[in-house]
Amino acid sequence: MLAVAGAGMAGLVAAARARELGADVAVFEKGDRAGGSMLLSSCVVWRHVDFAGFRAECPDGDERLQRLIWSRLDQALAWLERTTRVGPLWQDTNNPRTTGRRYDPVALRDALVGRIGHDRLTFSAGGDVDVHRHQGPLVLATGGFPVRVARERGLLVRSNPWSEGDGLDHARREGAATAGDLDELYARALPAPPARIEESDYVRLSQLYGGAARVFDERGDVLFAGPPAWHENDLAQAIGRAPGGTAWFELDDAEHPQVRAAREAGGEVVGVPGGLVRVHVAAGVTHTLGGLAIDERARVLREDGSAIDGLYAAGVDAGGIASGGYASGLAQALVLGLVAAEEALAE
Ligand SMILES: Cc1cc2nc3c(=O)[nH]c(=O)nc-3n(C[C@H](O)[C@H](O)[C@H](O)COP(=O)(O)OP(=O)(O)OC[C@H]3O[C@@H](n4cnc5c(N)ncnc54)[C@H](O)[C@@H]3O)c2cc1C
Repeated sequence: MLAVAGAGMAGLVAAARARELGADVAVFEKGDRAGGSMLLSSCVVWRHVDFAGFRAECPDGDERLQRLIWSRLDQALAWLERTTRVGPLWQDTNNPRTTGRRYDPVALRDALVGRIGHDRLTFSAGGDVDVHRHQGPLVLATGGFPVRVARERGLLVRSNPWSEGDGLDHARREGAATAGDLDELYARALPAPPARIEESDYVRLSQLYGGAARVFDERGDVLFAGPPAWHENDLAQAIGRAPGGTAWFELDDAEHPQVRAAREAGGEVVGVPGGLVRVHVAAGVTHTLGGLAIDERARVLREDGSAIDGLYAAGVDAGGIASGGYASGLAQALVLGLVAAEEALAE
């Protein structure tokens, strides 16, 4: 029996692949639904066009794991479409730096659950990963610790509400090492409170025009000299490090669609002399970039580099892959989910 903790993209893929290989599977989901953060996402599963681009963009990440994800993604996407019979909404990303596909996340989630079998999923299983450990190999796919980081640092959550780091804590109790900087985030600027933001608004309300804005902290000092990278994760992280995790974007386009969306959500959008507008923004944590140390077989590693018996990590429970930059969390979840299942069953 393969046990999987977490029913996001990584856990569902691991379980569906294990079923396809003829294994018995039990998936334990802490929340009340399957799909994890994928369900809230734009669901573009992508890689950099060439590997050099991946390295250049995420220079501090583990090169072996980056190469694994980059080189296996296209065949993993073909597997996903074959297995789920869900076709892409977009055939490409419309971004010259990247290639990949966009899907309907609900259709993908439903099809993956269907492949696994509803009776193999247990919901609201609590956060106690330890209880799943002794049924056979265990794949940790609990989505890192964005909720914990947001709470500890006073930032907004921009992920599923259950990823508290339970996989990380479990593995560390078993002697696991970590990889990457545990303070490094994939974040986005969102309208700051009192804006009302439902989880279904995370994509629509993202304030992704930092390249066209001047960015000030709460005292009015320049917070980020810019320009930010195309993905603006560097800027969002800088906002996350500022006191209160907030900043002001100043720009000359009061009717920018994302500014309008912030205003309509009840965010602070104020006019300033010179026909400019200032938008109060806050960093929202999408996922953590540091996490468990794994090898190319998705085995969780100890400090000395040895693998912990029967323990695997997939998705953003694995750390140190997109370090220093920005890469597709869904690609990491898809490829490592497949690898974890295949390796766990080969034991
Ligand atoms: C608004 C938004 C837009 C995004 N857009 C994109 C995009 O277009 N492209 C892209 O590549 N990425 C995108 N992402 C990021 C992407 O969604 C995540 O990186 C990816 O879904 C992570 O998958 P995962 O399976 O590793 O973790 P998750 O999806 O977080 O799944 C983890 C699951 O584990 C569960 N869990 C937590 N603790 C436990 C426990 N103790 N026991 C059992 N279950 C537990 C959680 O409830 C959750 O269901 C976006 C994210 C958001 C929020």
